[in-house]
Amino acid sequence: MSNQFAEHEARLRSGFIQRQHNLFIDGKWTDALGQGRTDVIEPATGRTLTTVAAGSAEDIDRAVLAADKAFKGGWSTMPAAARTRRLLALADAIERNVDELATLESIDGGNPVTHTRYGDIARAIDVLRHSTGWIDKVGGDVPMSDSRPGALSFSLRQPIGVVGAITPWNASFLLAMFKIGPALAAGCTMVLKPAGLAPLTALRLAELMVEADIPPGVFNVVTGEGGVAGRALARHAGVAKIAFTGSTDTGKSLLVDASGTLKRVTLELGGKSPVFIFPDADIEAATNAVSSGIFFKTGQFCAAGTRLFVHERVYDQVVEGFEARARSVKIGAPLSPDTEMGPLISEGQRKRVLEYIAAGKREGAEVVTGGRAIDGPGYFIEPTLLANTRRDMSVVREEIFGPVLCVSKFSDNDLDALPEMANDSEYGLAAAIWTRDLGHAHRLAQTIDAGIIEINGGDLGALPFGGFKQSGIGYELGKAGIEAYTETKAIGIKY
Ligand code: NAP
Repeated sequence: MSNQFAEHEARLRSGFIQRQHNLFIDGKWTDALGQGRTDVIEPATGRTLTTVAAGSAEDIDRAVLAADKAFKGGWSTMPAAARTRRLLALADAIERNVDELATLESIDGGNPVTHTRYGDIARAIDVLRHSTGWIDKVGGDVPMSDSRPGALSFSLRQPIGVVGAITPWNASFLLAMFKIGPALAAGCTMVLKPAGLAPLTALRLAELMVEADIPPGVFNVVTGEGGVAGRALARHAGVAKIAFTGSTDTGKSLLVDASGTLKRVTLELGGKSPVFIFPDADIEAATNAVSSGIFFKTGQFCAAGTRLFVHERVYDQVVEGFEARARSVKIGAPLSPDTEMGPLISEGQRKRVLEYIAAGKREGAEVVTGGRAIDGPGYFIEPTLLANTRRDMSVVREEIFGPVLCVSKFSDNDLDALPEMANDSEYGLAAAIWTRDLGHAHRLAQTIDAGIIEINGGDLGALPFGGFKQSGIGYELGKAGIEAYTETKAIGIKY
């Protein structure tokens, strides 16, 4: 593989990363009103990369006003063809810079560059183009029964207004694009508050918005603390909708803040997803997928399959397979093209993961492999398999957000109880099923309370994405995803 990432790394470290990062409001870079700055730490080294402005409630206010001006000033009423051209130009601009963006995302968030390049950023480009494709296809209805001589009743959809987007650090660029694509395509404008732990690609994206001729004010970025800038966005009367991805606890507090003005809210929250492996499955493929799913983003992945249920006949084979993969997985520098697993995002996150593993051990879980921090700079940790886990353990009930897999056995006598085992969680984000009996897989899939179900590693494409129960409210992507940025109006005409 060519070393395009090393060249970008050198340029980014001496250029973009070192810049004075301010707020992007109304198409211009502007100082935050307060003096505060926040350090951005590199997860692979623990060193400070740079600082970003700590935006305040007043800064959010300025950004919302700019977004409102752009909404009313032409973006929401721009002809479909013109808005399509601009957003496709943005997708092209991102694509021209895909290697650089992947490098920046990996330095900032710690994920392996092959994942950010061929996963996150490439997918973000697809999401933007996919969203753009809906511009002239989403609309209202004219029921046949309501079009009578002298009368016409119809509904139309119109963009909701200014959207406040609040995103986490585990896939900063992609999860921002899950909101930017459909919101801008629908004719909304946006203020984005990226996560404090990995805000840099959002700032670089603002530059690409200028390059792609997206009008000033359509997209604004205010960095700052969640409890300050994020809360101000959630409470702001000029914001019509909050599109949030993050933890369930923050989602709940955000709902309270947004309720003051009865904002529309989309919440993509945490998960504790079950995986079932049956004896007739392709065991090697299943074991590889389960292992890769835990190494992916060092387990900091909302839909990660973290509760593994394996049929007793193939239990030993799966556990040994995971152990072997965990021993051989290449853990290391995010910018090395052969790295499969990078560090956790922060020291705080590593401490939290280690505390969960310790609690699991105290409660009787067996550490089959892993369980320790890796010495040296950065926030590296071993991939961990916990066996003998029970439903009442905190490692099984709570989202750890680290590379920790809890495995338990089931037998033929438990088959009727599998849906109950899957659904014994406050979360309902994802699930995976491995069996060659597709009828069985489908029947089980229908009983699981989760927004995403993968059977034998199936791909979900651009289908709407959302969680059941405490994993969220609403959907991103697909038709439902773009409709979430619209209001419906019913109109009756007598003529
Ligand atoms: P988080 O702590 O909830 O933070 C998410 C965002 O909310 C950050 O930008 C944060 O700002 C901001 N925030 C914090 N407190 C806030 C408040 N009171 N009001 C408004 N905004 C506030 O989550 P995280 O640790 O970044 O991300 C990990 C979580 O995201 C996990 O639970 C994971 O499952 C979930 N996630 C879900 C999905 C999905 O699609 N369902 C996808 C990815 C991640 P600061 O950065 O300044 O704290």
